[in-house]
Amino acid sequence: MNRGTVLATIITIGDELLIGQTIDTNSAWMAQELNKIGIWVHRRIAIGDVWKDIWQSLDEESKLSDIILITGGLGPTADDITKPLLCQYFDGKMVVNEEAEANVRNIFENILKRPLIERNLKQAEVPDVCTVIPNKRGTAPGMWFEKNGKYFVSMPGVPHEMKGMMHYSVLPMLQKKFTMAPIIHRTLLTAGIGESFLAERIQEFEKNLPSNIKLAYLPNYGMVKLRLTTAAYDSRTHIELEALFDILKQQVADVMVVDEDISLQEAVGRLLTTRHQTLGTAESCTGGYIAHLLTSISGSSLYYKGGVVSYANKVKEEILSVEKETLDDKGAVSEETAIEMMKGALQALNTDYAIATTGVMGPTGGTLSKPVGNVWVAVGNSEKVRTHEFHFRFDRQRNIELTANNALNMLRKFIVENS
Ligand code: AMP
Ligand code: MG
Repeated sequence: MNRGTVLATIITIGDELLIGQTIDTNSAWMAQELNKIGIWVHRRIAIGDVWKDIWQSLDEESKLSDIILITGGLGPTADDITKPLLCQYFDGKMVVNEEAEANVRNIFENILKRPLIERNLKQAEVPDVCTVIPNKRGTAPGMWFEKNGKYFVSMPGVPHEMKGMMHYSVLPMLQKKFTMAPIIHRTLLTAGIGESFLAERIQEFEKNLPSNIKLAYLPNYGMVKLRLTTAAYDSRTHIELEALFDILKQQVADVMVVDEDISLQEAVGRLLTTRHQTLGTAESCTGGYIAHLLTSISGSSLYYKGGVVSYANKVKEEILSVEKETLDDKGAVSEETAIEMMKGALQALNTDYAIATTGVMGPTGGTLSKPVGNVWVAVGNSEKVRTHEFHFRFDRQRNIELTANNALNMLRKFIVENS
């Protein structure tokens, strides 16, 4: 990136991260927060609770980065070695920090109401060469070190505690130490076009991008996000980014869902909210997944009324009024059944629109005429219905996600074109 860019490394420590028992969510969160204030994370490293590995990473990363942020290994048990290691690394000796001790005592006596043992008091010890970062949410204090113009920050692995420290102390301290340009992103969401086709279509645009503006493709289950990123040193960069984003939008207008960094279900929610209209679902093969996506958005009760998980044919018949003959003659996975499910949902749930899904998600249950991945989706209102047959060829989970996203996108288009 540009000269003057502040570079950071995130080191996450813990054997549990390496064996895959705990997923490292700390670095993703920290990277986002650092980005917002203009710090580029150019390396993320996960290592075990191993003395020589931690030592070596500190040596290596301090050559490459201005800031080294560390989480993990601060617990009161023997497997956590980060604190004694840092003490030795920065030539300090352990001393009791009074504020940290008062914090530990308060947590045990007033919050946990449990007796305090020696091991817990040890948490209040810190190397005498660090600045203590208070932990308002736990017993292990954070530590801030400086060496050869580089900053090292050690925080607990517990996400909630680390986040508190970042917000209250670390981010403000970093902002005082460096002058940074905020990193800005403009993101749009496309659906129904693969990333390679998208890349073909915008290759001229991509080729002509100035070197300070980066384009990223972020594909995910039938959708691709396009993101433009730059460090905004002045208002000119903002204007430049906006202008380029406008061009990009025009080039993908027909496949664009929304020109913000939001999900498809959020975009559908907005369409319905502004129109004061409602939606219901009738899900067979997606088993309520579309309902889950819709209700994961806060405020969705404004437009989403509910759904029927009509997995068994009996439920399709009795609750959604799908004709027995349709099921017998055409089968549960058919255009006719999808249409009747959609109409049944409109009736049963009394909504303006409905989505219906029926298909074979696999890995078992496929037949010659209806193989795994064969899905029918119907979307519509009381006047019109639109159907589509899909042939996915992935595992069960992926087939479900693809069905849900495609169904939501079909509804989105239906709403836009019919109102
Ligand atoms: P520690 O500070 O090593 O005692 O970590 C305490 C707990 O924090 C661990 O048991 C993990 O559950 C959690 N944890 C540690 N590192 C991470 C990380 N990078 N991402 C998410 N959770 C973590
Ligand atoms: Mg640990």
